[in-house]
Amino acid sequence: MTKNQAKEILRILRNSFTLPKWITSNREPFKTLIVTIISQNTADRNTAKAFENLSKQFEVTPEALANAEKSKIEECLKVAGLYRNKAKTIKQVSKLILEKFHGDLKPILSMPFEEARKTLLQLPGVGPKTADVVLLFCAEKPTIPVDTHVNRVSKRLGLAPNGDYEAVRESLQTLYSPKDYLALHVLLILLGRKYCKARKPLCKQCPVNTFCPSRQIGDKITDSVKTVAVKRDF
Ligand code: SF4
Repeated sequence: MTKNQAKEILRILRNSFTLPKWITSNREPFKTLIVTIISQNTADRNTAKAFENLSKQFEVTPEALANAEKSKIEECLKVAGLYRNKAKTIKQVSKLILEKFHGDLKPILSMPFEEARKTLLQLPGVGPKTADVVLLFCAEKPTIPVDTHVNRVSKRLGLAPNGDYEAVRESLQTLYSPKDYLALHVLLILLGRKYCKARKPLCKQCPVNTFCPSRQIGDKITDSVKTVAVKRDF
């Protein structure tokens, strides 16, 4: 994939989807962190519902959640998967942010990118995707979070190799300019949800099918192809 082809894919995606109004690079970091922890292995609708339950029950601050009863956090998160683990992680991370960072993530986000990422990765429950979401959405740091959609779509489109998280992130970041990282992340998710679905991609209708080396997979969706499509996903 050349940079020009990658640029053209982004141009088509921008014309094909409306970026949601919630796209912003100055989201509140603690709430973003909590939503992203809840979202791990959980459908978007259930993540939103769980976060809504949590917000109704508690102020979503490190202090309130560090002192909350774990069983009450669990109750709020029941709609999301792995709710017991997530409640435990949320309590631990809240306590640590309160004690070590005086309840404020903003100083971390003011650090140079690599230092900020390394610091976030040391927090309980924070893996590369969660750290990158916070860095991109809350401070517009130059990184592209690779969630399940970004991973699948990038590989099918040839924007990234069949590698791990860092290989996909690095490939996308080489092809695109940092000013486009936020839009690209969101647009690949939208493409993945609407057309480039994990089990049954709608290649004929897909707006970027002329650039896609995998465009036949949607036409010949047999059981064997389904298996391949699933295997290629994270
Ligand atoms: S053509 Fe098919 S495989 Fe390629 S990006 Fe579109 S939906 Fe995905």
